[in-house]
Amino acid sequence: MAWRLDIAVQTPAHAALGDLLSYASPIPLVPGTLVRVPLGRREVLGVVWNPPVPLEDAEPDMALKPVGAALDALAPLGEAWRDLVAFAARYYQRSIGEIALAALPPQLRDLSGTQLARRLRRKTAAGPVAETAEAAHPVALSAEQTAALARIEAGAAGTFLLVGSTGSGKTEVYLRCVADLLAADPGAQALVMVPEINLTPQLEARFKARFGDDAVVSLHSGMTNPQRLASWLAAHSGAARIVLGTRMAVFASMPGLRLVVVDEEHDPSYKQQEGARYSARDLAVWRGQREGAKVILGSATPSLESWHQSRPAEGEDPGGRYVRLAMPSRIGAGELPTVRLVDMNLQPPKTVISGALLDAIGQRIARGEQSMVFLNRRGYAPVLACADCGWKSECPHCSAYRVFHKIDRTLRCHHCGFTERVPRACPSCGNPDIAPVGRGTERLEEHLAELFAGVTRPDGSAAPGPVRIARIDADSTKKQGALESQLAAVHSGEVDVLVGTQMIAKGHDFRRITLVAAVNPDGALFSSDFRAPERLFSLLMQSAGRAGRDAAYLAAQGATAEMWIQTHHAQHPLFSALRRHDYTAFARQQLEERAAAGMPPFAFQALLRADARTQEAAQAFLNAASAAADALEGADRVVRYPAVPLAIQRVANVERAQMLLESPSRAALQRLLAQWQPLLHALRRTPEGKGVIRWLVDVDPHSI
Ligand code: ADP
Ligand code: ZN
Ligand code: ZN
Repeated sequence: MAWRLDIAVQTPAHAALGDLLSYASPIPLVPGTLVRVPLGRREVLGVVWNPPVPLEDAEPDMALKPVGAALDALAPLGEAWRDLVAFAARYYQRSIGEIALAALPPQLRDLSGTQLARRLRRKTAAGPVAETAEAAHPVALSAEQTAALARIEAGAAGTFLLVGSTGSGKTEVYLRCVADLLAADPGAQALVMVPEINLTPQLEARFKARFGDDAVVSLHSGMTNPQRLASWLAAHSGAARIVLGTRMAVFASMPGLRLVVVDEEHDPSYKQQEGARYSARDLAVWRGQREGAKVILGSATPSLESWHQSRPAEGEDPGGRYVRLAMPSRIGAGELPTVRLVDMNLQPPKTVISGALLDAIGQRIARGEQSMVFLNRRGYAPVLACADCGWKSECPHCSAYRVFHKIDRTLRCHHCGFTERVPRACPSCGNPDIAPVGRGTERLEEHLAELFAGVTRPDGSAAPGPVRIARIDADSTKKQGALESQLAAVHSGEVDVLVGTQMIAKGHDFRRITLVAAVNPDGALFSSDFRAPERLFSLLMQSAGRAGRDAAYLAAQGATAEMWIQTHHAQHPLFSALRRHDYTAFARQQLEERAAAGMPPFAFQALLRADARTQEAAQAFLNAASAAADALEGADRVVRYPAVPLAIQRVANVERAQMLLESPSRAALQRLLAQWQPLLHALRRTPEGKGVIRWLVDVDPHSI
């Protein structure tokens, strides 16, 4: 007897191969089994996807290649996991094999069955959760925390939107929920997701302190392949009770999954921006529903999608599917920082830091408190320019400027990576006097150092001496471990003024920062992207949330926490909502605009993007694709806009264009995309597809 097995393998993204490949096997391997199979000249890892089908004598089984070795030391991947992968593939228009294999740790591809068996022997049994010192003496919950926890634990399943101010103790609610779950069910597992790798060490420390080292594993792209494999195996076997990770963790195989937490659920990092462009938050909600697990989405500034989905019933409207829970107060009767707007129109020209803000920072320094100055642009200056001939530091390969980095005296393109030493004189006219235009974190750091050059911290403070300024951004943290040591320096009080990008604005539980300043947030106010105000509002609320987190410290210092914003548009409604910490008002106003314009969450979108040698070729492909869609069933329910160039039209000598699709019905959009896919593959091989390097579909795109 022989069997036909349908196997998911990683085929090149746009190869014309079907979703699954068939192989012959003498053994009826069950779905979810990992196997090696021949593909072309290579042998690759695959996942048995469907139940085995007996090969009839009549069927020409000669045509099927035989499967290779099965990695049968490993328990097969469960049905729920396969459903998640299949759903993600269908919804985001990718192949099952691509999603399935990307979800597995890379090292599985190289290990033999014996090697794998050896790894598995190292640790398998699910241990009881350790009684740590912290677990034995947990803090007493606030009334708001108690109420939120009770609501979450009341039902059997469901999705909860935990809207908690910064510093309201959301993490403590997650910890308590996980603790109760694990205590009640010895086989239960919890998945906890954070948006950024740099937030995982802090969270990991908190979870390990509570549950012991063995119960907790991490999964993120900053780990080595052997580490990832070990974490993955521990999750898959059930030995790890808690998995912490970034968006990729949503695909972790967890047979006992009962709870999913998505912290800072509004964060754009949950959306994968290459390959399969999935939203880990949306998949987490789907996965929770499929597996009957609870899902907690937490944020101080929820995405408007989640906010809308958690609206209470009203009149005809049955309300959203999520339960909304509010924790408006900070722990320890701490106040949210007072927001001060500085009208930059009233400042002398070329002011970088207004006099009042400078004074406020100076007072903090004198009292031994910390300040944080936030600027969302790294490097020294975004452009280098010649005033004589108008030369600018354009990237020869992209439609963008190269950024001046003074530290290593380079011009660097942040899009294609092209890097050169800074020229001594203007490359175009020889003028030796080329100057930086605008300001990034490096230049801001330098400027602050100049402003505070004469200032010394008072003798009364722990370490009198010159003012210490530090910078944290993607450049300062490239080296392994650099971020941890820089953050540790801030926590231990070795820094007076911290300068940085959004990296420092999110999540961190700083205790001695009493002032946060955003020195130039205006760029996002007038962006063509309709989500820009939403992102700016949450980033500023998050940044404000770093100030005055320790009520006891504030009281002891006799200080108040402040958030300063320097802007040329002090009257903008976004800032008045921010001033009152009024997310609700901001959300109401944004949702009214979105509803009137028929935009998400009241409509559903997808982008078709094409990259080509020329802009004409890219647009021709998109327009031909749009024409081809006319004939599809239900095409009239999906608006297709004309093809346009991307905001940064050319990157690494590739021209990029996109076309927006929009429909009031998610189902209608999905139906159209599914029918469209084969046409797009075919179109690529016609004259309209000539010159097209690649195309892709982005479902629920984040930036337009
Ligand atoms: P959020 O995630 O909502 O910004 P955190 O969970 O980080 O807030 O909590 C802020 C701070 O308050 C943390 O230092 C945390 O340890 C502390 N905290 C949380 N809940 C309590 C509580 N019930 N009693 C005392 N301290 C608490
Ligand atoms: Zn010049
Ligand atoms: Zn470039």
